[in-house]
Amino acid sequence: MSTRSLGLKYTAQGLGDRIHLVSLCYEISKTQSEIVTLHLAMNHLGGKKRDSFLEILNLFPNSLVKLRFHESEFQTTSEWKHYLTQEGIFALSFEYRDHPGWLEKPSDIDASSFLYARHLLQPSCEHRLRLPTEFVTVQWDSTGKDRQLPDHEISKIEKKYLASGLEVIRLGGQSTDDLLRDCLTCSASAIYKSRYFAGVDSGFLHLALQIKNPSQIHFYTARNRYWSHHTFRAIEMGSVVNYYSRKLNTIDFIYTKLRYDSPRLMRKVHKLRQLAGIERHETHD
Ligand SMILES: [Zn+2]
Repeated sequence: MSTRSLGLKYTAQGLGDRIHLVSLCYEISKTQSEIVTLHLAMNHLGGKKRDSFLEILNLFPNSLVKLRFHESEFQTTSEWKHYLTQEGIFALSFEYRDHPGWLEKPSDIDASSFLYARHLLQPSCEHRLRLPTEFVTVQWDSTGKDRQLPDHEISKIEKKYLASGLEVIRLGGQSTDDLLRDCLTCSASAIYKSRYFAGVDSGFLHLALQIKNPSQIHFYTARNRYWSHHTFRAIEMGSVVNYYSRKLNTIDFIYTKLRYDSPRLMRKVHKLRQLAGIERHETHD
C-alpha cells in the first residue's frame, strides 16, 4: 500500500518508481554480496510495466538482480506477503526509515540505508546516438502535476545552461531524438556522458542518481511543490538544489519538513481533515 495516500495501492506507476525499485535491489545486492530477487505481483505489472521492468534490468550488470513476476493481484501488503511465504519465498518487506510516510507500517528492513552511497553504473548503448561534446541532460515532465515546473521557469533555466556553453538535451517524452524517447539505455548513456543532469522529481532523476555523482545532479523544486522521500534524500545525498533558480532558505526547508516529512503531525492533520469531511485523496504516491 501507499505510505502517503490513504487506501491507495502502490503500483510502481511511474518509470521512476520502477527504476528506484531495481536500483534498491542492486544496491542491496552490492552491499550484501548476494543475488536479490524483486517479486512483483499483477498490482505492479499492468500496461507496459512488465516490459519496462525488463528494460530497466538491462541497465544493471552481472545478473545481481532478478525479477520474478507473479500472476495474481493482492488487496493488501499482508495478503501479498502471506502468499509469498506460502510459495516458500523468504520475502522481506521494506520501509524508508529516514523519511517515513505518515501511513508507513513497520517492515522487515530499512531500505533507505542502502540508498545514500550508490554503486554507480557506466551505461553504454549499441545504438548510434549523436550527442554534442558539452551538454546537460534534462527532464522536466513528471507524472505528478505538483512536481512540475512552470514553462517560463524551465525556459529561463535552460537559457542559463545554454549561456554557460552547454547544449540542453531533453530526455524521455520531451526529447526530439527518437532514441532518447524510445531507448532507456540511450538515455542512461546520455546522462553518463553529460556534464550535469538537471530536472524535477521525475523518472530520470532516479536514473541519474544511479549514474552520476550527486554534485553533478541539479535538482529543481520549490516549497509549495510535492516533496517525496526521494526529494529529501536526493538533497541529503548532495544534489545541488535550484542551481539556476531561486534558492531555498531555512524557512522553506522548515515548511517542507513540517508539511511532507513529519509523519506524526501528518497523522493528526489527516485525522482532523477526516473528522471535518475535507480529506483529499492524492492520486499518486
Ligand atoms: Zn539505445
